[in-house]
Amino acid sequence: MAKNKKIISVPIIKNGVPNQDWKPASVTDYADIFQNSLEAMIMLDTEELIRFWNKGAENLFGFISEEMVGKKFYLVLDADGIEPSLAAGVSTMKGQRKDGSKFPLELSLGAKESHGRLRLIIAKMSLAKLSDSDALKKSEENHTRAQKQLEYRIRFESLISSISTHFIHLSSDRIDMGINYALHAIGEFEKVDRAYIFLFSPDQGFVENSHEWCSLGVEPQIQSLKEILVSRYPWFMKRIRAFETIYIPKVSEMPDEAQAERKEFERKKIQSLVIVPLVHRGSLRGYLGFDFVNRQKEWSDEVIELLRIVGEMFINALERKKVDQALRDAKSKYLNIFENAIEGIFQSTPRGRYLGVNPAMAKIFGYLGAKDMVDSVMDISTAIYLTPERRTEFLRILKERGRVLEFESQVKRKDGYVIWISENARAVLTPNGEIDYCEGTVMDVTDRKLMADKLVHGSLHDALTGLPNRTLFMERMGLAIERSRQNPKNLCAILMLDLDRFQMVNDSKGHLYGDKMLIAFATRLQAILPLKTTLSRLGGDEFCILLEELPDPSHAAILADHIQEALSMPFELEEQDVYTAASIGIAVSSGKENRDEELLRDADTAMHKAKLAGKGRYEIFDASMHTKAVQLHTLETDLRKALERREFCLHYQPIVSLDNSTLMGFEALIRWQHPTLGMVSPMDFIPLAEDTGLIISIGRWVLWQSCKQLVEWQSVLNDRNQLTMSVNLSGKQLLDMDLVRQVSAILSETKLAAKCLKLEVTESAIMVNPDKAATILNSLKDLGIYLSLDDFGTGYSSLSYLHRFPFHNLKIDRSFISKMEEGNKDEEIVKVINSLAKNLGMEVVAEGIETLGQWAILNKLSCAYGQGYYFSRPLEENAATKLVTGGGFKPRGPQA
Ligand code: C2E
Ligand code: MG
Ligand code: MG
Repeated sequence: MAKNKKIISVPIIKNGVPNQDWKPASVTDYADIFQNSLEAMIMLDTEELIRFWNKGAENLFGFISEEMVGKKFYLVLDADGIEPSLAAGVSTMKGQRKDGSKFPLELSLGAKESHGRLRLIIAKMSLAKLSDSDALKKSEENHTRAQKQLEYRIRFESLISSISTHFIHLSSDRIDMGINYALHAIGEFEKVDRAYIFLFSPDQGFVENSHEWCSLGVEPQIQSLKEILVSRYPWFMKRIRAFETIYIPKVSEMPDEAQAERKEFERKKIQSLVIVPLVHRGSLRGYLGFDFVNRQKEWSDEVIELLRIVGEMFINALERKKVDQALRDAKSKYLNIFENAIEGIFQSTPRGRYLGVNPAMAKIFGYLGAKDMVDSVMDISTAIYLTPERRTEFLRILKERGRVLEFESQVKRKDGYVIWISENARAVLTPNGEIDYCEGTVMDVTDRKLMADKLVHGSLHDALTGLPNRTLFMERMGLAIERSRQNPKNLCAILMLDLDRFQMVNDSKGHLYGDKMLIAFATRLQAILPLKTTLSRLGGDEFCILLEELPDPSHAAILADHIQEALSMPFELEEQDVYTAASIGIAVSSGKENRDEELLRDADTAMHKAKLAGKGRYEIFDASMHTKAVQLHTLETDLRKALERREFCLHYQPIVSLDNSTLMGFEALIRWQHPTLGMVSPMDFIPLAEDTGLIISIGRWVLWQSCKQLVEWQSVLNDRNQLTMSVNLSGKQLLDMDLVRQVSAILSETKLAAKCLKLEVTESAIMVNPDKAATILNSLKDLGIYLSLDDFGTGYSSLSYLHRFPFHNLKIDRSFISKMEEGNKDEEIVKVINSLAKNLGMEVVAEGIETLGQWAILNKLSCAYGQGYYFSRPLEENAATKLVTGGGFKPRGPQA
């Protein structure tokens, strides 16, 4: 009962369901007015059960409140027990008092809706007038008007109060719904046909119907009133823009200048309307209005007041919605960025805790998620950074500059893996200028860093061996020289190493094999080098060692010895033992070098000298070498031009039969008639020609020239079988797969019989690549050519091994012959070689016979052939021709 008494409520219902947010306004004050009013007033619910029964009703009917609340209203009507239908408005019927007396009853009912469970009806009742004296009637009318006004006022205030309360509590996403409810309430309150809001577009060029309520039977307009061009209704808009209320009781009487508007209203069957502008902070946002479709209406000031008050609430709520929406949009946008960014985003305290991180940040650091990272990291300086000093540095910069840009550090992931990150951050300060927290972004730059390191490493290192390359070596050498300049006790030296006969290995076995050899060589060297030594590969088979802080220059030579010793052990390559040697040039810094390259050049000069001196050796640079090196360089340039300038010629040294000194043939020996140096010995330029590859074309020329010469002599002698020509082949030629074809071509071009040509090769030339040499030699033999093993005794001298090769001749090196005396060791050697060769079916030629005594010993040993100054020095072409045409040597000999 008490509960019911308190309810004065404006119903807000949609689709028959009450709004859950609707809280009846507590209006104790109004309840008291109701309660104590002398006018009989009751409230009914939709079932027409009495909810509230005031003092006036008690007086009129004689029933007190407790007797009537909860009862059907018709019980106090004289309706013969039939429930009369109640209609809104004023009606007269018969009432029945508690004492049974009946009386005429004027019933005035507030608007009645049939749907809605909590719908309340306010009913005002009074005794119907039976006598109508004018005065009485007037006073009654006045009284009634006053009552009505009071009632209206109460309901008005109540309505506004409840709408206002309602809007205060309404969340922004329900504002549209709230406005629709409120339009419903005020429309119904004022009994209008339509209540609506129009809102302007941001540029004020268009207006559209945003909210609408229509009473029963009135056609809604909202769907058709979108994007209305404001300029179409100038009369209307001018007023609205001036913030005027548009008050049109009769559309039909609108002025001429409002023709467009009038037509539009008439088209929509609007008869009267009232509209108030919706203004927010001085700017026009739209308008709120009521329409009458069914009748014309004089609008009261209260209606306009209601529209103004409610309009203000609406526009405030709509603005709030707009702001909230903008905030929500921004928030979701930033949340979206935060959640989906590829960069890590964090907020951290200066004390080293994370306040928040995004999923990307957690991922970068290998945590399960953002929460895992925030909860796990207790101290950023130790849990994140590889070295805590990095965090100290980060905070220092942050404090000094307020932000940190592209701060790169190595950090630890949760799994301990170290990565590189780059951070950008800014400090957020407290009001007194302290760092409150900092926020920023993190990028994983590990790949970039590694790539950069790799690039730097790659630009300074040799790709094959991983050793420092020339650039890095030069840089280190420059620094070392500078140090020795400043402190002469800080001596430095460089050792230039060149693998002996590497080119041949590369040519014969292929580059892959050569590469393996270089790697094996580098690895072995590195293993024996002392600390503070830089081993570099300058290119090809050229290596360089930088020795620093040498106590004494001799240490460089000691190291060279070590290296040679280390290289005496074979390398195992492709399951074969391979031997290699290196020529080493040493240059020690005097601290006075003008340019760093000088030291390198000196070592290079010494290395070349070592190579010329017989390979597998080392030489220490001295100043005179430099001059020689320069000479060598000039010689090389000249050699390149010598062939086309026809500076080569051949000398021919006779080979004789030792028993009767018969001329058997000649050995062709090349000479270089240098334009300024005069005759240059092959000992000086053949190695150079081999190193530069020029030997191939020179060799071809020698072959062709000598063959042609022999054919000339044979035609003079008129005997194509007489005499032989021995031609020297270089090891390089022996690796040239084209050699066989060339030789055969020369034989057919010159028409020399193959058996008259003898090709001489040395053991060392064969041993570079014995397999290949054997193939080529066999092919040459197949052409019918004779093969001689030259300088026997200076190389491996393994006859059993040499058996594999198809030699016809063996030439005993002149170093044995020249030292050979009766009964001495060399005689013994020559004796052994001679008999072994014979056993192997080879003819023997003794080289360098200078004396009769040597000839005599050889004769005694039954050595068949020989050559040497004793018989003849190598002869020029003319001299040799003379010898041939003159019938050779006169028969002579030890026994002659
Ligand atoms: P080799 O093939 O052993 O030639 C013999 C060398 O011994 C020649 O020196 C010759 O002049 C020298 N000789 C001959 N008899 C005596 C002697 O009784 N006493 C002394 N002390 N020396 C004597 P040469 O002409 O200076 O040739 C040196 C080397 O140059 C040759 O040694 C050969 O290996 C090379 N050579 C010469 N011509 C050619 C050529 O056309 N092609 C190639 N690849 N090498 C050549
Ligand atoms: Mg020879
Ligand atoms: Mg020889």
